Amino acid sequence: AGDPGDGDFRLLMDYAHGFMVSQVLFTASDLGLFEALAPGPLETAAVARALGSSPRGTRLLLDACAGLGLVRAEPGRGGGGPAFTLTRLSRLFLLVGSPLSQRSMLRYLAGTTARCWGELGGAVREGRSQYARAVGVATREPFVAIYRSSAERLLFMRALQDTWSVYGARVLTAFDLSGFRVICDVGGGSGALAAACARLHPTSSVSVFDTHDVIATARAHFRRPRGDPPIRFLGGDFFRSPLPRADLYILARVLHDWTDADAARLLGRIGRAGGRGSALLLVEAVLTPGGRGPARALLLSLTMLLQTRGRERTEAEFRAMAAAAGFTRFQRRPTGGDLEVMLARK
Ligand code: SAM
Repeated sequence: AGDPGDGDFRLLMDYAHGFMVSQVLFTASDLGLFEALAPGPLETAAVARALGSSPRGTRLLLDACAGLGLVRAEPGRGGGGPAFTLTRLSRLFLLVGSPLSQRSMLRYLAGTTARCWGELGGAVREGRSQYARAVGVATREPFVAIYRSSAERLLFMRALQDTWSVYGARVLTAFDLSGFRVICDVGGGSGALAAACARLHPTSSVSVFDTHDVIATARAHFRRPRGDPPIRFLGGDFFRSPLPRADLYILARVLHDWTDADAARLLGRIGRAGGRGSALLLVEAVLTPGGRGPARALLLSLTMLLQTRGRERTEAEFRAMAAAAGFTRFQRRPTGGDLEVMLARK
């Protein structure tokens, strides 16, 4: 006989309905629901007016958000049902413009990433990304598809930048980097991590190396506050162009985009560009030994199947890859989140 309280059954139902949770989050964000509630508690009718949405749909969305802890329901004053207010989670992470906002990341996940996930079956059958089906771009070059328009390039860069508002300081203080005078963030995107690094180590020279288009976008759209230490932007192809000489090369979420052979090629180039005492700071999700977990890193590996040529890796794999490029002294430190930091020195 069945038991609806069976733990396995409940877990199954949680998994089966997981996409609905994401959809509530994406839709509430997209409609501007959290900004509408930012000034203070509002009843449904007022939220619907602010969003230009139906009272019925708005009430059901607000109730679902309350059930998920994205908003909180309080007794209303007017007879129009409860008043809804932000929770700590939504106030900190879901308001556009808040210092820790993850809204660009959510927009990216709701767009390209969700569309690619819709083609997971094809990706598993064929063992490669599905951009032709998902976004109508027939290419196997991940960054040709990811950067298929200037709007997509900008959104991708903003999405990845959101991570550093939460992780930046943890990543950069996991090891003492004060001895490195010349630091290059290879595949450094918008430059957010490099900028945080320059603020922590203002006497070091910090640069970002990324494709010409990304560098041009970073210069045009990611202005730094006045008084911030300068960072240099260098455009090129990290598989072909000369890499700058540095004491420390940062590679954050870069190796997981590539096959073992491509990653080895890139690390080899970095190993040759760096001086004798140079080092590598890797920032990636790290799989447990044998690659059985953690679950979110395994899901990220599937995203890499869908959107890149790579996958997530274990510490042993990172250690071996770094050593093959000459970076043999290897240490790993957690950050408390999905991304971890590994320092490998020659
Ligand atoms: N490090 C950044 C972060 O973690 O936020 C960005 C990571 S993103 C997943 C990978 C980066 O590698 C992108 O900024 C992309 O433009 C860059 N990239 C990809 N192929 C490249 C190439 N051939 N030469 C230089 N940069 C490249």
